[in-house]
Amino acid sequence: MQKLALANLGRFFEAVAARQALYLPVEDAGGQASFQRWAPGAKLSGALNTTRSAKDFFFPQTEDLVNFKVRGKEIEIIDPRTEQEPFVVFGVRGCDARSFSILDKVFLADPVDTYYQSRREHGTIVSLACTRPEETCFCTSFGIDPTCPQGDVTAWMEGDALYFAANTPKGEALLAQTAELLEACGDEAVRAQQERVSAILEKLPLAGFSTQSFGGQVLIQVFESEKWAGLSQSCLGCGTCTFVCPTCQCYDIKDMDTGHGVQRFRCWDSCMYSDFTRMAHGNPRLTQKERFRQRFMHKLVYFPANNNGEYGCVGCGRCLAKCPISMNIVKVARALEGDCK
Ligand code: SF4
Ligand code: SF4
Repeated sequence: MQKLALANLGRFFEAVAARQALYLPVEDAGGQASFQRWAPGAKLSGALNTTRSAKDFFFPQTEDLVNFKVRGKEIEIIDPRTEQEPFVVFGVRGCDARSFSILDKVFLADPVDTYYQSRREHGTIVSLACTRPEETCFCTSFGIDPTCPQGDVTAWMEGDALYFAANTPKGEALLAQTAELLEACGDEAVRAQQERVSAILEKLPLAGFSTQSFGGQVLIQVFESEKWAGLSQSCLGCGTCTFVCPTCQCYDIKDMDTGHGVQRFRCWDSCMYSDFTRMAHGNPRLTQKERFRQRFMHKLVYFPANNNGEYGCVGCGRCLAKCPISMNIVKVARALEGDCK
């Protein structure tokens, strides 16, 4: 384990940013935290988490896939990708850090999504242990330990120091870049923080929440539950829950006529939208109830059925905080629990 005096945090960021792009959570005037590229004077946010998740780094909201240039009867196919630069994302919380392994199961499965793959290869994740979990947090329900988050490097902020442990060769290389600012140390301070925060986690309102009764084995029972109608009745179909979610990964591909060719791009889509998965024959989900059901079936039933029991949720709590009608995965799971028999 290595230690950085917090007084040297600015120098640490400067040293990292000198070698690769560095992103960290900073706050806007309204106090909302978002990942932004480091620039001199940037101040690390003290917020528990960012409004938008860290998935944006690997699966951006919009992305050009291919361009077609048309000259008479000739079509030139242009790959718009430029060589990715290495980058570091600092301050990823345990829930978002786990979301990458869920996204990997989708985008790195055959056929591999090379756009996502390239970003994953160029990105180094420095996760930051949580010290003030909120009432909407329930990552521990999915076996995540926010006091020791995954990542290439795990960091803990405690007292007047930042403690680091490298978990991968990428993480070791990153710490080697800043070696002159770090000193070897014991893990007593980190352990004390973990004990303190673990005690808080046990007292959170959602500490006992579990999705263990869901999964592929209850597909029919849950799908056919009569409770979907009531649960979805007030859903506005706004898609907020899907856009803030670190594990939602649906996208649409569109072609734009540029006048002298075609620009093909993808952008996030939402299963909550009425034109989602619309095909030549029409739309397979005609009602908001069916669309609402799709989102939660995917996270609680379809995803674990196809991924050795892993749920498509990391308990980040964003949908609990952001849904305008206060609907969320916890309410849905609790309402449907009785149908999992
Ligand atoms: S479903 Fe909600 S709590 Fe779960 S990962 Fe997505 S936004 Fe977070
Ligand atoms: S955020 Fe709430 S209202 Fe909006 S689509 Fe999701 S569940 Fe429906």
